[in-house]
Amino acid sequence: MSDCIFCKIVAGEIPARKMYEDDEVLAFWDIAPQAPVHFLVIPKKHIAAPVDVLEEDDKVIGKLIRIGAGLAAENGVADGFRVIFNNGRKAGQEVFHIHLHILGGREKPWRM
Ligand code: AMP
Repeated sequence: MSDCIFCKIVAGEIPARKMYEDDEVLAFWDIAPQAPVHFLVIPKKHIAAPVDVLEEDDKVIGKLIRIGAGLAAENGVADGFRVIFNNGRKAGQEVFHIHLHILGGREKPWRM
């Protein structure tokens, strides 16, 4: 989508601190980290939000978790990290290209 900031990152039109990339998935550090380790894992395909995931997307959505967990381990937080999808503005979603947040490195666990 032409007006989607994460599609622009995928296309290389705006910069990001990339961690991992293949033909389906991109991971990059969050620009405004909420934890010592905070990065995003996205499908290259534009899917706006979790509610828009189709059956054909099941595999790539699972891959986001697998890649995210591996990168969490590589970045020293294998023993504890959060895995979050926000869906909709009321839940805090600001970027409408589905993304998995991985957050780790805090001393105490988050409440939820
Ligand atoms: P959400 O609130 O779930 O939509 O999360 C969007 C996340 O994207 C926030 O944590 C932002 O800090 C992050 N973000 C927005 N723009 C960029 C960018 N250009 N590069 C990296 N992270 C970004």
